[in-house]
Amino acid sequence: MYYFLQTLGCQMNYSDSERIVTVLSKLGYQPTYVLSEADLIIFNTCSVRQKAEDRIFGHIKTIEKLKKQNKSVKVGLTGCMVRESGLCEALPKNELCRKMKILDFQFKIEELEKLPDILRKIEHERKNINVLYDNKDPADSYFRIEPKYENQAQGFIPIMTGCDNFCSYCIVPYARGREKSREIKNVVAEAQNFAKQGGLEITLLGQNVNSYAPQNYDYENESKPPFVKLLEEINNIKGIERIRFTSSHPKDMSDELINALGKLDKICNHIHLPVQAGDDQVLKSMNRHYTVDDYRLLIKKIRRTVPNIAISTDIIVGFPGETEKQFMNTVKLFEEEQFDMAYIAQFSPRKGTAAGDHLEDNIPQNEKSRRFHFLNEVLKESSLEKNRAYFGQTVDVLVEKQAKGYAEGKTTSFKVAQFKAEPSEQLVGKIVPMKVTETNVWSLRGERF
Ligand code: SF4
Repeated sequence: MYYFLQTLGCQMNYSDSERIVTVLSKLGYQPTYVLSEADLIIFNTCSVRQKAEDRIFGHIKTIEKLKKQNKSVKVGLTGCMVRESGLCEALPKNELCRKMKILDFQFKIEELEKLPDILRKIEHERKNINVLYDNKDPADSYFRIEPKYENQAQGFIPIMTGCDNFCSYCIVPYARGREKSREIKNVVAEAQNFAKQGGLEITLLGQNVNSYAPQNYDYENESKPPFVKLLEEINNIKGIERIRFTSSHPKDMSDELINALGKLDKICNHIHLPVQAGDDQVLKSMNRHYTVDDYRLLIKKIRRTVPNIAISTDIIVGFPGETEKQFMNTVKLFEEEQFDMAYIAQFSPRKGTAAGDHLEDNIPQNEKSRRFHFLNEVLKESSLEKNRAYFGQTVDVLVEKQAKGYAEGKTTSFKVAQFKAEPSEQLVGKIVPMKVTETNVWSLRGERF
């Protein structure tokens, strides 16, 4: 039996898919990358943007044709679009099942332990496959499912699910529910296991990692926030060389966490801190709970603690009501803070969110696009300037891929780095020192040192 699993969206979804793979392989399924070979097709969906949802409807059309030729193929959905778990025949009122006639089942990712049971119902001949996960708490049993790491050197470990922040443009709190944090000892056990398998770099994942708050943490007697405690424990794991975490919310960026960035030697020299807008009024309308000055102060503290740290951010341009002056405040913030990288999105209304349902999407598309390009040009300048500072330095590159005579990977400051490598050398998954001989806007190039 073959499965075809397609993942859309963020790193969190990719990490979830590694757990889905574990369940499917325990059930005896094997992966295939050829759609027409599959007996089971699962889409791990993203609904952060309407476009991502539309892509799923596009894929479903392709599968409709496939299902006409092979009626036994089963199709399921999970991820952010899904709100219920079960077979579609048992969920007649479910919107997705009604809209997608070829859909056989769906499951909430935090109820992954229900997948064996769903598949058992589909395939009557499979026996006893729902006894793998018997925990009453679905989120906890989800975390207990050991992932099959796609990448042996770099592992993504979810430390929490959901989000409590309700930023006005974002569907995540509705799609993934309230925040629920894993116990420190469980995260550490997963990290130790990953290290034993040869893992070098760990990225701790959550929608809002720095509000990590496991229920059983001794808040009265522990002097530090649980996320800092977790980082310290991961930092002590033998074999792990690099620690990253994403995403952090500026309102939860504590002084203790900033100090940990300076103290813990394995934390990478990079932080992603989404600001979303450089104007207080827009931030208020986004329900972000900080001001631009609060953000500036955080950057100042971070740079004072780790002087050459690389900083990246997220921005939404063309938010409802964003005036030219407000947009220029974002430009000003970019010019002042000189980000290494930024992920700039053009606002698109998301049904079911406060902004999507109650604010008028009144910035014309061509204006959103102009703002995007304008800001991108400002970013290019700061990114190039930051990269130039690496010229002549030796950086450690964790190689992610090798092709056409080049190896490519990331530095600890999250810069894309490339160097010449013979195809016979197996460098993927290794940390290789590189002397920087060329600096570009989005990457560094160099020679093995
Ligand atoms: S912090 Fe805001 S943007 Fe991030 S997942 Fe939560 S609601 Fe969405």
